[in-house]
Amino acid sequence: MTKEHADLHLHTTFSDGFLSPEDVLKNAFIHRLKAISITDHETVEGVAIAVSEAKQYGIEVIPGIELSASTVAGEIHLLGYFIDYQDVTLQKTLAELKKKRENRLKKIVNNLSAQDVHVDFDALLKFAGPGTMGRLHLAHFLCRNKIVSHIYEAFDKYISSDKPAYEKVDALTPQEAIKLILSAGGIPVLAHPESKHLDDLIRSLTSIGLKGLEVYHSKFDKKDSQCLLAMARKHDLLVTGGSDCHGEGKLIPLIGKIKLPYAYVEKLKNHAGINYSVLKTYKTEHF
Ligand code: AMP
Ligand code: FE
Ligand code: FE
Ligand code: ZN
Repeated sequence: MTKEHADLHLHTTFSDGFLSPEDVLKNAFIHRLKAISITDHETVEGVAIAVSEAKQYGIEVIPGIELSASTVAGEIHLLGYFIDYQDVTLQKTLAELKKKRENRLKKIVNNLSAQDVHVDFDALLKFAGPGTMGRLHLAHFLCRNKIVSHIYEAFDKYISSDKPAYEKVDALTPQEAIKLILSAGGIPVLAHPESKHLDDLIRSLTSIGLKGLEVYHSKFDKKDSQCLLAMARKHDLLVTGGSDCHGEGKLIPLIGKIKLPYAYVEKLKNHAGINYSVLKTYKTEHF
């Protein structure tokens, strides 16, 4: 049995996680992880910090991101591994997406006032900190202001996708998200796949450049992961896994719950290396 493990899905305070990049590293060290990936929503701000701090913990940090993408059937999430987090096109698009997330939260806050729930948007902005904003920030803010007693109550009563205050993220299309990851030299992976029509979804995403499937995730049981592993094999996709830890943002830090055998990281690395020149060609031809 392999003794080396990774957690390739971790959020920090630069999106809706409650652990700083350094705290993520400290926790990864406690859980004896060999490699981690910082995969914040629509930002790479935490990556550079984690990369620079990684050496002192002896942990490998894989630059990553999690992008939301909207499809007719709803929102999907795409992870990007080994992205060049200094890529100018990437940075520019992420700055736009950050603003869109902020505007979307403003709309949700307006919708809430129609339900007689009043939130000071500037205070929420401050509470969310320097990174990208999400509903988890709002849920905690509602808790903090005693409007709800629990973050899950905030979702159940007000902000889950079937509630009137909900607004969609003004997200990229899957094609745009995958292109963005590829153009920054990254490996696009479908995060926590749950679609009822997963086979069709994977087929359409692989045709536009999807390279991997998140087979192991905190919300999957053994059977789910077995099915996803078969799916990954069927479509010749790389296998990834991670806890999707948001620190105490999700009440219990999940880091350590998923221990991805390091052999899968090696495969990702090989792919990143082998494909580098191919990606450059793809970039000049298609962008
Ligand atoms: P956003 O990207 O702003 O739409 O927010 C997504 C975040 O909210 C993710 O961290 C989700 O895990 C979390 N989230 C979405 N729905 C729920 C829910 N019903 N209960 C708790 N957390 C949720
Ligand atoms: Fe999140
Ligand atoms: Fe996600
Ligand atoms: Zn996530």
